[in-house]
Amino acid sequence: MPHQDIPTVTLAADGDQSAVDLPAIGQGTWYMGEGLATPEEEVYALQQGLELGLTLIDTAEMYGDGGAEKVVGQALQDRRDRAFLVSKVYPWNAGRDSAIAACEQSLKRLKTDYLDLYLLHWPGGIPLEETLDAFERLREQAKIKRFGVSNFDVSDMQALTNLPGDRRCAVNQVLYHLGSRGIEHSLLPWQREHCIPTMAYCPIAQGGRLRRELLGHETVEAIAKEMNATAAQVLLAWAIRPVDGERDVIAIPKAVRPDHLKQNAAALQLTLDDDALARLDSAFPAPKKKVSLDIV
Ligand code: NDP
Repeated sequence: MPHQDIPTVTLAADGDQSAVDLPAIGQGTWYMGEGLATPEEEVYALQQGLELGLTLIDTAEMYGDGGAEKVVGQALQDRRDRAFLVSKVYPWNAGRDSAIAACEQSLKRLKTDYLDLYLLHWPGGIPLEETLDAFERLREQAKIKRFGVSNFDVSDMQALTNLPGDRRCAVNQVLYHLGSRGIEHSLLPWQREHCIPTMAYCPIAQGGRLRRELLGHETVEAIAKEMNATAAQVLLAWAIRPVDGERDVIAIPKAVRPDHLKQNAAALQLTLDDDALARLDSAFPAPKKKVSLDIV
């Protein structure tokens, strides 16, 4: 599915699903369908993103109360097969039957009959086993191809993988950007050991709003200038950097402005060398001890 020559992250084969290569940068949709931009601008942005190779689209029933899913549905109406579509269920909708109903509502808004990946948005009060049973039924009904989780820390991941049965969690989607590296202490290593790729949300710290100093930081700016790139592109290239030659992080920036989209797609071609990585590391070191999972 990804265009040729762009860096990818592989989701392993799972049951009747063969392994799939996804672009290391996709498209987020939070705040779409809420009037920040016109629906036409948002639909156009998603379609442009697809053209540029950002074929993974991440959405959720939560975003704009279903409004973002409707925008995505409109964008994909005549090109569903070109996208890898991800949506998420609220934890309180993730019961044995309620998750089926929530997924069906999402599919209706998305004007499609299947999701490529369905995530539990964050850990909640409903027993995980129930949620996984629902995901399994959704798979049997061909309404979802894979399932995963979001905002799960190490202990949540351990609880998930300790459940009986042979059910593969495809990804964990968590907050990750240069200014928030807590997952590098134990969650990322744990996921790497268990071959579970990471989807990095807020990869540009919500356009810098989560960490004001990030985009204008002198080290980030200097590296951007040396590479003829923007600070946001440096943050994206950093988030998806290969570790020991392997990529397993997919960044999902949300962008509606056409110049933002072009930059984000071009960031797929940006490789930070060891010197740039070391400078970023010393400006924004990863924590040396476990910190609680950052969320928004
Ligand atoms: P991002 O870090 O993706 O930042 C989005 C903001 O950055 C927008 O204001 C956008 O502006 C701006 N932007 C995009 N590209 C650039 C660029 N090249 N240069 C400068 N600014 C830019 O934050 P999000 O919170 O949107 O996170 C990304 C996605 O992750 C979400 O949209 C959602 O799909 C997912 N998510 C998941 C969560 C979870 O709990 N699982 C929680 C939060 C997010 P504009 O749109 O005007 O172009």
